[in-house]
Amino acid sequence: MQIRAAILSAPNGRFQIETVELDPPADGEVLVKIAASGVCRSDWRVAIGTAPKPMPMIAGHEGAGIIEAVGPGVSRLAPGDHVAFIWAPACGDCFYCNGGKPNLCGTFTPLLATGLQADGKSRIRWKGEPVHILAGLGAFAEYAVLREESCLPIRRDIPLELAAVAGCAVATGVGAAMNTAAVRPGASVAVFGAGGVGLNIIQGASLCGAHPIIAVDANEAKLSLAKEFGATHPLPSDDAAISRIRALTGSRGADYVFEAAGMPALQEVAFRALRPGGQLTLVGTAPDDSITGLPAAKITRSELTIRGSFYGSCNPQRDIPRLLNLYAAGKLKLGELITRTYRLEQINEAYADLVSGVLARGVIVY
Ligand SMILES: [Zn+2]
Ligand SMILES: [Zn+2]
Repeated sequence: MQIRAAILSAPNGRFQIETVELDPPADGEVLVKIAASGVCRSDWRVAIGTAPKPMPMIAGHEGAGIIEAVGPGVSRLAPGDHVAFIWAPACGDCFYCNGGKPNLCGTFTPLLATGLQADGKSRIRWKGEPVHILAGLGAFAEYAVLREESCLPIRRDIPLELAAVAGCAVATGVGAAMNTAAVRPGASVAVFGAGGVGLNIIQGASLCGAHPIIAVDANEAKLSLAKEFGATHPLPSDDAAISRIRALTGSRGADYVFEAAGMPALQEVAFRALRPGGQLTLVGTAPDDSITGLPAAKITRSELTIRGSFYGSCNPQRDIPRLLNLYAAGKLKLGELITRTYRLEQINEAYADLVSGVLARGVIVY
């Protein structure tokens, strides 16, 4: 079938809207009619070449849609099912999956790196050439053929544009607070970077009962949004931020500090906000070749914990339905995250808005 898709043909930051040819799903694959896909920074890194990927490629790694057809051997999904996309599919039967850490399952990692399907082919062609897909998804298109493991069935009463962001920014941010750090009630929290992920760390910390919850960001609009998501003390990111965090935490520093931007320089600032015995969780993904400089002696003397959080340490099968239930119960904000929706044809405008910092989350709707 012929579909419209946003293609990256060179790492120049330009998406081209093109008509491409999509094959039917093969063994273990499904055809999804995409309803919405989130505008996320990880795709932008691919678009500008700081995270190099094979091209031509269809990016887009967060999304939701409705199953239109299933290939042979698909058992968990049927046409009509509403699904959220999972950009880190898990095999369900390896050391990590069996150990309750499916976010670390590496079974599909080599396959996803190729941007192709299990048989080494692409299901998409453009001008006769195979097109790669990002994260096994390629969500910036009207339809996608995906592995069954990349789709999570969800309840049908959740608007699909909200389910699209739940699968990435929300699972990553809320999961970092709830799963990775396991923030305790009454604990003090400081979050550096209040974008899509940071706002969700804030709302995760709020759900955990933390207080105070301090948000640090250079962008004033993001700070006022941070308050809506549960931040008790929004602080501009200036030289005084660390001393103000100390003043708010009994002169000690925060129990839990999070860095959501993936910037080594900001990680080093966030480190200084920790109390002795505190825990710094690095949530934002820094550029592949970057290095963080943290004062080694202080880590030892103050018994500090530095840890990474990948995909919010989440088990998507368990956590995404749980997040959607919290949303349905009025306890989790999703709609407030979406600053603006775009049509696929407006994708370059959407990324210009992302880069200029005016979006908490932008979503492309089909
Ligand atoms: Zn994302
Ligand atoms: Zn596994």
